[in-house]
Amino acid sequence: MPHAIAPTLRLQSCGAGVQSTVLALMAAEGLLPRLDGVVFADTGWEPAQVYAQVDRLAAVLADAGIPMYRVSAGNLRTDSLDPTHRFASVPYYVRNPDGTDGMGRRQCTAEYKLKPINRKVRELLGAAPPLYRRVPAGRVAEQWIGFSTDEIHRVSDHDRLSYVRKRYPLLELGMSRKDCLRWLVARGWGSTVKSACIGCPFHGNAQWRAMRDQHPDEWADAIAFDTAIRKGGARGLPLHGQAFLHRSRIPLALAPIDRVTRGEWADRSPDIFDALAELGDPDGCSPYGCRSGAAVAA
Ligand code: SF4
Repeated sequence: MPHAIAPTLRLQSCGAGVQSTVLALMAAEGLLPRLDGVVFADTGWEPAQVYAQVDRLAAVLADAGIPMYRVSAGNLRTDSLDPTHRFASVPYYVRNPDGTDGMGRRQCTAEYKLKPINRKVRELLGAAPPLYRRVPAGRVAEQWIGFSTDEIHRVSDHDRLSYVRKRYPLLELGMSRKDCLRWLVARGWGSTVKSACIGCPFHGNAQWRAMRDQHPDEWADAIAFDTAIRKGGARGLPLHGQAFLHRSRIPLALAPIDRVTRGEWADRSPDIFDALAELGDPDGCSPYGCRSGAAVAA
């Protein structure tokens, strides 16, 4: 059913991964309606390759007259280790004192991605500084979200906002993640990588291996962080258990990341696009549906 109010602005929330890069490039090329802006939420802890991608995309968008807004709620790595900072929980794997397994709550996506994006959307819609809380009546943003057809289960209305009208152009186009990869390769963007924090506990073995073998500085950073969170990071764990980045609940430096998981094995394929998609491994972090893994309970 058509909406009664036409959107004031058309914006894209951008995780800078495969799907959102396709959407932004399509808008820049005029294959999709014109965007008024692309909003990228920076956790401060993305791999260097992702920041290079963001810079490249911003340049293409600028040539097309589309601004990219980079927003941030701070540096997730620094904040997680700072006892004076309000702690936004990362979903660590936990070993409880009684030997049972648990998981930390995931608040990081909401705090470091969703919140700063929504604040920017309110600001662009005319909410008054300094808090940008209230959007003037009648102003609405059409917000593009880059879910592909293989992610249709992620579409949700539970976080509905009065000033946002979500839209899923890749679903309207019937494009899967593999279609997106083909589209990017044809345009010289075949090296586009998943976006996710360097030390995200939802990395699969393939992603940890790639980091260890191709980006030793980032691997060393993740190992240092893994060591620092053992007692829970900034505030410690309520039950005094131990926290880990790897699902084995073994220190990352020793974790069995060379083991090919059942998912990786099942998804092995000679198809170059499957190889590019690194199937069997989680698919990066999106502000609107963390592809890194399912939400976990407290
Ligand atoms: S990538 Fe992982 S650590 Fe970073 S915001 Fe998403 S879920 Fe949290």
